[in-house]
Amino acid sequence: MANEQENVEALDAVVAGAGFAGLYALYRLRAMGLTVRALEAADDVGGTWYWNRYPGARCDVESMAYSYSFSPELEREWVWTERYAGQPEILRYLQHVAERFDLRPLIRFRTRLAAAHYDEAGGLWRLTTERGGRLAARFLVMATGCLSQPRVPPIAELETFAGRIYRTSQWPHEDVDFSGLRVGVIGTGSSAIQCIPLIAAQAAHLTVFQRTPNFSVPAHNAPLEPAARRALMDNYPPFRKALREGFTSLLPEETPQPAALELAPEERERRYRAAWEEGGIKLMFCISDGITSKPANDTLVKFMHDRIREIVHDPAVAERLLPRDFPLGTKRLCVDTDYYATFNRPNVTLVDLRATPIVAATPAGLRTSAAEHALDSLVFATGFDAVTGALLAVDIRGRAGRRLADDWRDGPRMYLGLMAAGYPNLFAITGPGSPSVLSNMVVSIEQHVDFVAELIAALGARGARTVEAQAAAQDAWVAHVAEVAQGTLYPQANSWYMGSNIPGKPRVFLPYVGGVGPYRRKCAEIAAAGYAGFELHA
Ligand code: FAD
Ligand code: NAP
Repeated sequence: MANEQENVEALDAVVAGAGFAGLYALYRLRAMGLTVRALEAADDVGGTWYWNRYPGARCDVESMAYSYSFSPELEREWVWTERYAGQPEILRYLQHVAERFDLRPLIRFRTRLAAAHYDEAGGLWRLTTERGGRLAARFLVMATGCLSQPRVPPIAELETFAGRIYRTSQWPHEDVDFSGLRVGVIGTGSSAIQCIPLIAAQAAHLTVFQRTPNFSVPAHNAPLEPAARRALMDNYPPFRKALREGFTSLLPEETPQPAALELAPEERERRYRAAWEEGGIKLMFCISDGITSKPANDTLVKFMHDRIREIVHDPAVAERLLPRDFPLGTKRLCVDTDYYATFNRPNVTLVDLRATPIVAATPAGLRTSAAEHALDSLVFATGFDAVTGALLAVDIRGRAGRRLADDWRDGPRMYLGLMAAGYPNLFAITGPGSPSVLSNMVVSIEQHVDFVAELIAALGARGARTVEAQAAAQDAWVAHVAEVAQGTLYPQANSWYMGSNIPGKPRVFLPYVGGVGPYRRKCAEIAAAGYAGFELHA
């Protein structure tokens, strides 16, 4: 419905983003009979899986778990091919979802939401897109992603570099062929760790510029065994229930584990070995106290150091690859295929930026304090302004013109990671203070979208027009999120979970570490108590 006079499109709801979260939000809100549109900066659906097309990009939560649960038909018809699906397969899945549920007509592509101002008199969000389009909506759902605002650090004189520059987070759509080229990769986070082995196998030479060594466990990725896959596809509900109600949502089986130091050293080693052989992030969860006790964590660190020394032939290179300055798991544990072994290749060089920092780019490559490294291509795998970046990139103003960026100057403040006091009818999907990036994100996304849809339905049922978080409930939740984090080792790391990768970003633990199942139960209790902590107004 367009208001011709003002040329403003008026809707019940606008969803910003068309990744896992935006697609499901569209599906739910349309089913409630609302007029809804999504605005998406990209020219297709997929979010993370649209943008991050670098070689080796794949999920680190197993495919059968990293998928929607809202439609039994979808579950029956989509056949995952690998234990950890690659980016092309996940993107195809999301494209299939968009088509199967006829969501594309609801999405405005190549349209970035630039500003969202709350009009108190009208009880509406007035929205402006980057290209000047205007919309008005009662409800605004920010499905803009936790890892969607790329961070590319400045490098002096980068504009003089004569080669090609790539970013893992905005990889070209056409094939990139590094054959015969000298390639540099900056970064050793999950994205770098996935692409480094494949680039090394193709390029004439690969130079890895490492600032902080990282922990990575083998994926042992493989095609899914058809009989086991079929058995799971025929019996999804208990599997989904276990993911939703468990602590992590990452593994369907969460049996209680002993504390590390309760175990005899041989038994501990046996467990760690078994987790390593099985592959994936299980290593973190085969003891109960890996993320809460430093002595327990030290046993995991030692195990990992031993593995790295075992795999990497050159002892000097192995030493440089050993993470020493943060507990294991306090930065996202990476999951790889042949990462450490790649440093045994004769065409791979590891540059330690702590010892020899980058000074500047040159036409021929990168100059560190020790040498000039000749490069034809340079890949930035340098991460994201996580969790808050995409939200604060939009000029969001709530009641009385207050700016979200001002309210969050000392760190994000949201009730349950869903709503901010002073911003009526604005919802964040997997916002700060919710399990989000610590969880299987699809599980958390579905839970948040369901919560928002039910809350909007409750408004209708009560004849209310707006809902917003109460300041006191928000304060208590923010304090709780910080307190729970303080009981873990997470604050000991300079990680993106702590905002430490962005200069000037407040040092605040961004997600909620109190557990996915417990968080879900808390949300359900709040809803059952008439949305305690939220204010509903006529
Ligand atoms: P996104 O997928 O990030 O989608 C957000 C969308 O919003 C984007 O398309 C973006 O273009 C759009 N957008 C942002 N701002 C605006 C704006 N202002 N206006 C219009 N559009 C906007 N999580 C897991 O649980 N398991 C994994 O294995 C896993 N692997 C990952 C691998 C990579 C390489 C990365 C980067 C992340 C991974 N994640 C993983 C996290 C992943 O981001 C989530 O699992 C999930 O895809 C997030 O979906 P989303 O819809 O919330 O956000
Ligand atoms: P990241 O984990 O933040 O890693 C960024 C890397 O770039 C770090 O090694 C960082 O070093 C380095 N870096 C940043 N600025 C630098 C600078 N100025 N000079 C030198 N090095 C610099 O980012 P990411 O790898 O893109 O991963 C982000 C998150 O996305 C992951 O943690 C994960 O949640 C998700 N992800 C998942 C997968 C998967 O396996 N499914 C794959 C990719 C991403 P420092 O550590 O020293 O800052």
